[in-house]
Amino acid sequence: MCIFCKIVKGEIPNQTVLEDENFLAFNDINPAKKIHVLVIPKEHYDSFDVIPPEIMSEMTTFIHKVVEKLGIRETGYRMITNIGKNGGQEVSHLHFHILGGEPVGRLVR
Ligand code: C5P
Repeated sequence: MCIFCKIVKGEIPNQTVLEDENFLAFNDINPAKKIHVLVIPKEHYDSFDVIPPEIMSEMTTFIHKVVEKLGIRETGYRMITNIGKNGGQEVSHLHFHILGGEPVGRLVR
């Protein structure tokens, strides 16, 4: 079972930011910015590449709630999802990184 599925099952502890029946938002264990939250579907999808559009639509609504709860809607934030080997994805369970709480800077070129 993948590490994020273990988090969903409660076998690995997490710092939950927001949770509902289908999605979970929790603090990244190795934060890159003041705020670094991961948002995942509870059901396992390897990456954004394979998520059904209707689930992505529900996830969008959930992410909006997470951002509201974090209080970063006004200041802005960066949302990233890495996909596959060349995308730098380390955990093969779809997750969106929400980065904020401070300026995140430009993307490295
Ligand atoms: O996008 P990528 O797969 O590289 O990101 C995985 C992220 O999952 C990393 O930011 C890492 O710190 C985080 N992680 C976590 N808790 C774990 C394992 C990984 O927050 N138990």
